[in-house]
Amino acid sequence: MKVLVAGGAGYIGSHTVVELVKAGHEPVIVDNFSNSKETVIDRLEEITGTHLTWYRADLADQSLTRAIFEKETPDAVIHFAGYKAVGESVEQPLDYYENNLNTTFSIARAMIASGCDTIVFSSSATVYGDAELPLTESEPHLDSLSPYGYTKVAGERILTDIAQAHDLKLGLLRYFNPVGADASGRIGENPLGRPNNLMPAVAKVAAGRQDKLLIFGDDYPTRDGSAIRDYLHVTDLAKAHVVALEKLGGFDSSVKIWNLGTGKGTSVFELVAAFEQACGFELAKEVAPRRAGDRAEIYATPTLALEELGWQTELTIEDMCTDTWRWQSNNPDGYPDGEAQSTPSSVNAS
Ligand code: NAD
Ligand code: UDP
Repeated sequence: MKVLVAGGAGYIGSHTVVELVKAGHEPVIVDNFSNSKETVIDRLEEITGTHLTWYRADLADQSLTRAIFEKETPDAVIHFAGYKAVGESVEQPLDYYENNLNTTFSIARAMIASGCDTIVFSSSATVYGDAELPLTESEPHLDSLSPYGYTKVAGERILTDIAQAHDLKLGLLRYFNPVGADASGRIGENPLGRPNNLMPAVAKVAAGRQDKLLIFGDDYPTRDGSAIRDYLHVTDLAKAHVVALEKLGGFDSSVKIWNLGTGKGTSVFELVAAFEQACGFELAKEVAPRRAGDRAEIYATPTLALEELGWQTELTIEDMCTDTWRWQSNNPDGYPDGEAQSTPSSVNAS
């Protein structure tokens, strides 16, 4: 399949490009590099050993998006393109609604115009809001506590309506907590500024780029008092996208939803201990007050993905920490600045 990877230079998108090539598919990366660097393209060509087609383009621009679809005529799309920082979305809700929804509108319009009928959308466990565990795909009440999260609730609904009206195959993938990096150590998560999420913060402290780790709350009703999440390796997650794309056409329903997680919770203290084991030294850390809006415990019920896709996670918390540390220690400041060696493709938008 030729797969247009919207936001393919980002963290999860770049790992998915690697798995698409490994599985024999042809990715076309489209990204405006608002939260990524062009030099990731060189790393991807190095890992995959192939020349990649890529565009520097804003997918909120409908005519540009349409021109790319008309030129490439992809068989399917994976839609990663959007902003993703929860805290920033509270301060800049308009930017989040505008970018995350406009990319979705443009992609949907371009698909319909070019006859592309398959799309996988990056959703999130955030759509479960305060719903009681176990969190299953049939949960009727979706909500979210942040504008970012609401762009996922809305994105799911908008794409569902469009898929049903236009006979598209849609996969809504609800990720739990993606972490880790490709085993090569050449690509990984590269947050610009101070990281909000736990694993990148742990990695920055280990690399000496952040003075200490703040542990937000040790008084939760959990086994060690810290909050519990379902961390999954980004390579396992990337593989789930490939399987979802390959199998979407085989279901009666035009819209399918899958939780993607391990089904197991890991506490903040447990994750930090596993990372210390992986890097071989203790990290500077301090317990701080709970972070506003955090839940005590969230983990996936991933059984539907196993039953319907035959997908389950294979990599462990130890793998997630070892691979993150390999990436972070080899690239303490992330990707180099500058242009990619590889030349981008271009289109003339009317
Ligand atoms: P990321 O920021 O690393 O990747 C997103 C990519 O999209 C970036 O390269 C960015 O430059 C690009 N982009 C943003 N707006 C664009 C636009 N208008 N036009 C073209 N490109 C644009 O984020 P990620 O962690 O790889 O996440 C990918 C997707 O998965 C996002 O939609 C995110 O909301 C979702 N998601 C992520 C997580 C997580 O923990 N990382 C969890 C659940 C869901
Ligand atoms: N967390 C922490 N210190 C940090 C970042 C996160 O203690 O520097 C905690 C956070 O409060 C939460 C857990 O780690 O309990 C996972 O946070 P993350 O933001 O990675 O994921 P999310 O809460 O969005 O699932």
